[in-house]
Amino acid sequence: MNIVIFGAPGSGKGTQSERLIEKYGLHHISTGELLRDHIARQTHLGKVADTYISQGQLIPDELMIDVLEDIFKQNPETVEKGVIFDGFPRTIPQAEALAVMLGKYNTEIHSVIGLEVDEDELVRRMIERGKNSGRSDDNIDTIRKRLDVYHRQTAPLKEYYLGKGTYRAINGNGDLDRISNDIAAELDRHN
Ligand code: ATP
Ligand code: MG
Repeated sequence: MNIVIFGAPGSGKGTQSERLIEKYGLHHISTGELLRDHIARQTHLGKVADTYISQGQLIPDELMIDVLEDIFKQNPETVEKGVIFDGFPRTIPQAEALAVMLGKYNTEIHSVIGLEVDEDELVRRMIERGKNSGRSDDNIDTIRKRLDVYHRQTAPLKEYYLGKGTYRAINGNGDLDRISNDIAAELDRHN
C-alpha cells in the first residue's frame, strides 16, 4: 500500500503520517523533513533548498524529482514495503514523475488522503508552531506566501487525483484522534 498524505501547509501531514506509520508499518518519506535535515547539515542541497524554503517557494521540480529518485535507488526495500509520501508530490509534474518511478517497481499510489482544513486554522497552527519550530518559514509573511503557492501550484493535484479515483477527502479540522480514525476508515474501505 502506497499513500500520499496531501494538504495545505499546516494541515497536519506530518502529525497524521506518524500515526499511520505506527498503525500500518509503512515507511515515511517526508520531503520537508529531508530538506530541513540537509539545511541543518549545510549540505549543497540544503544550501540550495534554504533559498527557496525561507521565501515560501517550492524547490524546483527537476531537483525535487532527482532527490526522490535517489531515495528510491538507495532504499529499494522501502518501496516494496509500502510508503507514505508526506509533502510529495506538490505539483502535477511531480505527481507524473512519481507514477513513473513507482511503475518501475510495479506499484502505484493507492490512496491520496486529502486533509482539508480551514484557512484561518492553517494560519493559526503555523503561527503557533513557529513559536518553537525554529523554521524560517513559520512566520506570517512566509505563511501567506506558502498558502498562495499552495493554491496556485499544489491544490490542482486534488482534481488530478480525483480523476484517478484515488482522492479521499478528510476533514482535517478539530480533534487529532477523530482525524486519525477517519483516515483509517477511508484506507480500510479502499484496500
Ligand atoms: P504540514 O504542516 O502539513 O506537515 P509543512 O508546511 O510542514 O506541512 P513541509 O512538507 O514540511 O510543509 O515542507 C516545507 C517546505 O519544504 C515547503 O514549503 C517547500 O519549500 C519545501 N518542499 C517540501 N516538499 C517539497 C516538494 N515536494 N516540492 C518542492 N518543495 C518542497
Ligand atoms: Mg510537515
